[in-house]
Amino acid sequence: MATPFVTRFAPSPTGLLHRGHAFSALAAWQAAQAAGGRFLLRIEDIDVTRSRPEYEAAIGEDLAWLGLAWETPVRRQSEHLGDYAGALARLAARGLVYRCFRTRRDVAETIAQAPHGAMEAFRGAPLPAAEEARRVAAGEPFAWRLSLAAAEQALGGFEDLTFLEEGEGPSGEHGLIQARPALGGDVVLARKDVGVAYHLAVVFDDALQGITHVIRGRDLFEAAHVQRLLQALLDLPTPVYRHHRLLTGPDGRRYAKRDRAETLRELRARGVSRVALSAEMGLG
Ligand code: GLU
Repeated sequence: MATPFVTRFAPSPTGLLHRGHAFSALAAWQAAQAAGGRFLLRIEDIDVTRSRPEYEAAIGEDLAWLGLAWETPVRRQSEHLGDYAGALARLAARGLVYRCFRTRRDVAETIAQAPHGAMEAFRGAPLPAAEEARRVAAGEPFAWRLSLAAAEQALGGFEDLTFLEEGEGPSGEHGLIQARPALGGDVVLARKDVGVAYHLAVVFDDALQGITHVIRGRDLFEAAHVQRLLQALLDLPTPVYRHHRLLTGPDGRRYAKRDRAETLRELRARGVSRVALSAEMGLG
């Protein structure tokens, strides 16, 4: 029997897709086709303040235009917050996460005052129990952060955490990679507003959906390090990673929503065909 191959494209519906998204979606789709595998679409809409149903609808239109087909029903993360809360509760029961009442500004200041000026990763600790109880009772909002210290203790170190990179990280990383989860610090696993955050939702869903290959942009390579740790803590399988190059525009810069990159919808409207687009991106 052939080895199963399941991959996904997991956009956040916070804007219209541009060429960078098309490249990523096509890379995953083509890999699934080449392997005779499955291709899933997952809507990562936990950021309730920025996600919009019209962007989700546009994602469907754009991907269909690109010639992609995906399985239904599509998993929409906002409909599964209970799943993520359950995973978080499992971590909390083992003391692997702690409540963090800090504001973004507090965190930035703490980092700035750290002895190693360049250190960007935030590491904290649970508050004394009485103070924590008082602040919870007072209704103060808090996030849940992963405790690297507790995780390290629980696993007896991070030495056994590795993942297979079949693509390439930003510094050419390829092959068997030693995960370095400390790079990102004590990441937020549950935001103050929605009760979950990116890393936890992605790791949970990739396992639930049986994703064997995570194919995504190199900008998310660092995320694999902490995601590998979460897989170990939650006893979930580790997929193979294929981080791909980031598509750059004529100015040499990567396409980004914030730079108002031309959207696929605009491109379509001015008569660019999907064949021409694939060829332009080197995926023809
Ligand atoms: N939702 C993430 C994004 O749009 C991608 C998550 C992933 O592929 O792991 O950047």
